[in-house]
Amino acid sequence: MRRHQLDPAGGCSYPVARFTRKPLLSRSESSALPLLPDRECGGCVECCRVIPLELPELAKPTGELCAYCVDGAGCGVHAIRPQTCRTWFCLWRVIELSDDWRPDRSGIVVRPDGLETGEITLYVVRRTDFLTSMEVFGVVAGWIAQDVEVALSVPGPVGTFPARAVVTGWLRPAVEAGDLDDFNRRVVASLDQLERHDWQADGITARYAVHIA
Ligand code: SF4
Ligand code: SF4
Repeated sequence: MRRHQLDPAGGCSYPVARFTRKPLLSRSESSALPLLPDRECGGCVECCRVIPLELPELAKPTGELCAYCVDGAGCGVHAIRPQTCRTWFCLWRVIELSDDWRPDRSGIVVRPDGLETGEITLYVVRRTDFLTSMEVFGVVAGWIAQDVEVALSVPGPVGTFPARAVVTGWLRPAVEAGDLDDFNRRVVASLDQLERHDWQADGITARYAVHIA
């Protein structure tokens, strides 16, 4: 699989991979991942907003909060929600990350896409102070030390695919030097570049056909 890397020189010619057109809440991406016990989504509804979803019974453009979602509370059709919604979880529900990583607090949805090939994506849906904290630096540095490929991703306007690029090589010098400031500078530069992406429409028309008995 071709890896996409940011240009360390900060130029604008680096390749940006966009997510594929397939429904991104695909069961195969995370259904095998055991969830941590005693960890609940709580008031987080980020994946019900920022992940595109295209199923026969439920389709919603990227960035549109699912109409079945009660913002800050959760799924309003929980008992009959689509199978995909039952099996897709962000990695905060799966791996040992502190409570500060909960996506509605951190602004980061740690996506499972690519995990099976050793890739973790930080989908930065909102820039927060936490993003540039020592904790994020330490966790990402640990992943890179374990040869995990780290990608950054940002959402575009509602109804467009997110932009995404693998940044392992770009972050590695700061990680190896243990330099938090340089790491943060590289993260911010990456996000700035991604946000200049030529956004492509996801082509998803909203469809809400989950039948409530
Ligand atoms: S049906 Fe429920 S779980 Fe699925 S996207 Fe909508 S609110 Fe979220
Ligand atoms: S983004 Fe993660 S924590 Fe938030 S609702 Fe989705 S699975 Fe739960």
